[in-house]
Amino acid sequence: MECWFCGRTAGHRWHDRAVGLHKGVDTSLTPWIVLIRTTWQREVVLVPRCARCHRGHLVEQLAMVLALAAPIAYAASGGLDVLLGINPGSKAVAAVWAGAALVPALGWVAIRQAWLPLDLLAPRRLRYARRHPAVVRLREEDDWRFRPGPFPYWGFPEGTVPPPPSTGARRTAGRVLALLGFTCFVATVVVYFRGNSELAGGLIVATAGLFYLASKADPKA
Ligand SMILES: [Zn+2]
Repeated sequence: MECWFCGRTAGHRWHDRAVGLHKGVDTSLTPWIVLIRTTWQREVVLVPRCARCHRGHLVEQLAMVLALAAPIAYAASGGLDVLLGINPGSKAVAAVWAGAALVPALGWVAIRQAWLPLDLLAPRRLRYARRHPAVVRLREEDDWRFRPGPFPYWGFPEGTVPPPPSTGARRTAGRVLALLGFTCFVATVVVYFRGNSELAGGLIVATAGLFYLASKADPKA
């Protein structure tokens, strides 16, 4: 199997890019309990991808998150107010920080367009998966639509996407996350009894998140 993004030999099926499609969306109100129930058909196309392109696409997604987060952090820190003259302060410093806040966005565009001559990154961006013949055929012949929003592998119908290989690194990551989750839980109890219930609330959310991630990083199968 050839990698759709670069033409090299594709690796483990776990590296495949899973494209989620849906059709026949039917939203109905259930009669007794006021609850909107939405049903639809789901289809998954696995686009072959090599390990290198998989990693490159993860970098691309991470760069996108940073590209969005940096300007928000800049505005939240008050830099924008200084730059626009709303608050007093050095406009020159604010302008330098504004430039720095835009660097991740440039990086993201560069990665997407494969301008960086790095062998670590994928030569074609993630959305190129949508041009795969199997995806195009479903879209054109059977009226399937792209599923909106994030669609992680555990959201696919059972058995359609191969689970991640249970490598030593993943197991270690799972254990570290579980340990962090346990530490967070202990901290929650301590902080709560010291009377800081707001911080305890935040910590309990972090605990739940860490245990959730640990369960994903350490597959039992
Ligand atoms: Zn590839």
